[in-house]
Amino acid sequence: MSAVVVEKPALREGAFGNAQALSCRECGHQVELGPHYACPECFGPLEIAYEFGTVTREQIEAGPRNIWRYKALLPVPDDIESSPNTEPGFTRLLKADNLAAELGITNLWVKDDSTNPTNSFKDRVVACALSAARELGAKVFACPSTGNLANAVAAAGARAGIKTVVFIPSNLEQPKQVNSAVFTESLVAVNGNYDDVNKLASEIAGEEEGWAFVNVNVRPFYAEGSKTLGYEIAEQLGWRLPDQIVIPVASGSQLTKVHKAFQELIKLGLVEDKPYKVFGAQAEGCSPVSVAYKAGVDAIRPVKPDTIAKSLAIGNPADGIYVLDICKQTGGAVEDVTDDEIRAGIVQLARTEGIFTETAGGTTVAVLKKLVETGQLDPTLETVAINTGHGLKTLDAVSGSVGPAATIDPTYAAFAATGLA
Ligand SMILES: *Cc1c(COP(=O)(O)O)cnc(C)c1O
Ligand SMILES: [Zn+2]
Repeated sequence: MSAVVVEKPALREGAFGNAQALSCRECGHQVELGPHYACPECFGPLEIAYEFGTVTREQIEAGPRNIWRYKALLPVPDDIESSPNTEPGFTRLLKADNLAAELGITNLWVKDDSTNPTNSFKDRVVACALSAARELGAKVFACPSTGNLANAVAAAGARAGIKTVVFIPSNLEQPKQVNSAVFTESLVAVNGNYDDVNKLASEIAGEEEGWAFVNVNVRPFYAEGSKTLGYEIAEQLGWRLPDQIVIPVASGSQLTKVHKAFQELIKLGLVEDKPYKVFGAQAEGCSPVSVAYKAGVDAIRPVKPDTIAKSLAIGNPADGIYVLDICKQTGGAVEDVTDDEIRAGIVQLARTEGIFTETAGGTTVAVLKKLVETGQLDPTLETVAINTGHGLKTLDAVSGSVGPAATIDPTYAAFAATGLA
């Protein structure tokens, strides 16, 4: 594998904040911080290891209203630039009483990440990857993507003035293609599914010097960005953990990192230690983790995705086994829903809470409903569901199920005849 670092400049002091090393999730072997993602001993995934020292609530609360308020807990330098209006994070945590009533839940919150700069939670992970790419001296900022990641990489790269190249499956929703192409001249549509695109990206990362692929060779840095969802939820609940949380699963990175964030907050004494259950949400048409969960097996068999939830359509999820482990260990579950249930979930969230979510959020809401109906989730406990993206990017998913109630001539009589008065 070639390096991201072009001329191997010395990393500046504190380039990665409190991060100390890359540590193998499987065997614990440690590697120096850099553009590495696989353990040289066992090929297990590398994760960031930290020495945090003391981090206080007051210190965090004094920070900006974006993800950098948690910079002490991320692999970023202390002097990271933070402009208040352009950074992701500190999105709203909404009390969802109307949806709760329909689902028969007493205490429900929606963490709404559709309001990030490019309207998905991917802006969080990209901000962390961009910081690492800059510190490593990368000249190209790139990614394979199911759509939202490409949007976030292209926009962040444009703003930072770094060349971007983003790769997507050629069958991707048109709005997600436009949402990338508007920011970059180098959107590459690949004939194949996400797993094919991902394989191609790994190959390019091995061939090209100075390319930072956010979710390939700087993946350990990228992945840490998802922790901020967990930190924010705890802080916005008044420095408390919820009892149950429902999270959509594509590669599984987000779910594992929200859990990691909760564990860090407990270890740092920032929240009280208490049990919580983690639930994973998948689409039936791409449910390798849910299938393994239900079969009670530890191995995940890759699938060929076929679902409207394209942002979740990863057939061979890198962090799938860890998702299984976390959901089982915490007493949660992994569940999946059909495309029709996903459409219904989108409309239900819209009509109860005024939030237009994309197919991933439709999946989460529909899974939440199914978990209650099947008795897997306790409706009397405090529950958080994460809305990870915006419905304007997946209009086609619901354009067949919602539309004008009537098309009429501009007369009162015509209106009265519709029965809508
Ligand atoms: C990428 C994505 C996810 C899942 O993320 P993973 O960390 O790969 O599991 C969920 N929702 C949306 C909208 C996404 O774009
Ligand atoms: Zn290892």
